[in-house]
Amino acid sequence: MNPNHFEFWPPLLSKTLTVPKTTLYDNLVISAKKYPDKIAIQYYGQAYSYKRLLKEVEQLAGYLESELNVKKEEKILLFMQNSPQFLISFFAILRLRAVVVPINPMSTTKDLTFYVQDCDIRQALVGQELYEKVIPLKEETSLKNLIVASYSDYMDTEKARENLPPELTAPSNALTEDTSWKDALNTTRQAAAYTGEDEDVAMIPYTSGTTGLPKGCVHTNKTVQANTVGTSHWMNVTADAVILTTLPLFHVTGLIHSALAPLYSGSTMVMMTRWDRDYAAKTIEKHGCSNWINISTMLIDFLSNPNLVNYDLSSLKAIGGGGAPLPEAVGEQLYNRTGLRYIEGYGLFETISQTHFNPPNRPKLQCLGIPSFDVDARIIDLVTGNELGANQEGELVVNGPQVFRGYYKRDQDNRESHIKIGEKKFFRTGDIVKVDEEGYFFIVDRLKRMINAAGFKVWPTEVESVLYKHHAVQQACVVSAPDAKRGETVKAFVILKDEFIGKVTENDIIEWSKEQMAAYKYPRILEFIESFPTTTSGKILWRELQKNS
Ligand code: AMP
Repeated sequence: MNPNHFEFWPPLLSKTLTVPKTTLYDNLVISAKKYPDKIAIQYYGQAYSYKRLLKEVEQLAGYLESELNVKKEEKILLFMQNSPQFLISFFAILRLRAVVVPINPMSTTKDLTFYVQDCDIRQALVGQELYEKVIPLKEETSLKNLIVASYSDYMDTEKARENLPPELTAPSNALTEDTSWKDALNTTRQAAAYTGEDEDVAMIPYTSGTTGLPKGCVHTNKTVQANTVGTSHWMNVTADAVILTTLPLFHVTGLIHSALAPLYSGSTMVMMTRWDRDYAAKTIEKHGCSNWINISTMLIDFLSNPNLVNYDLSSLKAIGGGGAPLPEAVGEQLYNRTGLRYIEGYGLFETISQTHFNPPNRPKLQCLGIPSFDVDARIIDLVTGNELGANQEGELVVNGPQVFRGYYKRDQDNRESHIKIGEKKFFRTGDIVKVDEEGYFFIVDRLKRMINAAGFKVWPTEVESVLYKHHAVQQACVVSAPDAKRGETVKAFVILKDEFIGKVTENDIIEWSKEQMAAYKYPRILEFIESFPTTTSGKILWRELQKNS
């Protein structure tokens, strides 16, 4: 127990923050100069110094430029699980002023086809266990070159290998024509001198949307840097910090909190590829982890481990997360076990993680927190668009240094998702919130039709469009249903075609849909129904269905 942990934080003195104008790649160079021999990444028993990390970034950048002719602004697919290679790839792409398109490893070949076409991608950096999903794209899309990374390439010893999940240690048998990571790093050609600027586009992470098609969020070095530096201040990520990296790095919160802020600060990350609660507890004890950003399902699993009493967790100083509300009981359980209060934050892909966070020295539970550094957050009336005051519910709109430059090639979405108040442009979050007298924000509902399953966002229209492909489905409506563990889960109401009534079961369709989409999206619950409640114009009243779920 560490009841005085609040003393750990300096007071949050100001609402503004001076963000250095350096680029993300500059951050790495600066840390490597300051701390060349310090461990940047600890990965299953293998240690990477800052010097080694930067050297491999340079080697990979040299290969990408000289062999694959990667140029400024070219978009490159990054399809890997958490690994040192993920970050080396990320920085090598930025080193060439090219653009990272990070993709969820759970994506299917069909999902990938969309991203590759949307961004006109020619090259991809891929984890070996995901390779099979990418191969078909070489025939069907603009994708030509793959560099395939085997995470076990980084394991010098058998002992280290033992800790890596078996499918990640198997040598890849399918690398006949594509470049292996080792070959890519063997190049002797150096990339031309770096001339990046903070307004360079750095990455285009994808968020799904109400139209069912994912949308690329254009982020520059500057928008990402704002939250990288903001996070370091907020979570007190100093050079002494040891960060437990368990959130996936393709996701903006994982990337900012568990990788970019630590590397900016010169601290050490202890990285896991797959979630494992015993390994996490053992790692905290062994490496003295001080900071850990997670999601509610991870924390629930961690705290329900009967072996947890056997581990020394006293090094932990800051635990928090966002993306979905943390159940109050779990916050209490965490406090009882560690003496730490969970520090919740709020944000979106469009804002490269947080626009709000709880002041660590005075957090509230199930609360989005207060606006982050330099963020202007307002609440507007859903009908009139007028600004609202304390305890009135309306849509949250934000203006701040981390707000994206817009959706890639989506003019209409860009118009619809922004609003002007006075001379300032605000991004419409689609979340309905209210603010208390002390300036803390709380989420009360969503305008957007989205399901938040423990931070995994599922867009009903996308799931419905897949369900319509089932031969027995006449009509489908997907809603959010309450779930004890995940907060919300995906539920589908289906009207069967007459000829299939009694012949197809609910479970048949669930099993079929498992094959069609990423694991977090398919309906966990499916209910046949005879008719849907509709408006007079025939629109399905999904909120009615949701209320009864
Ligand atoms: P994404 O862009 O996929 O990260 O999803 C962003 C959405 O997650 C927001 O618009 C909110 O609906 C939801 N969200 C983020 N943080 C929180 C939080 N702390 N509590 C509740 N919902 C959250």
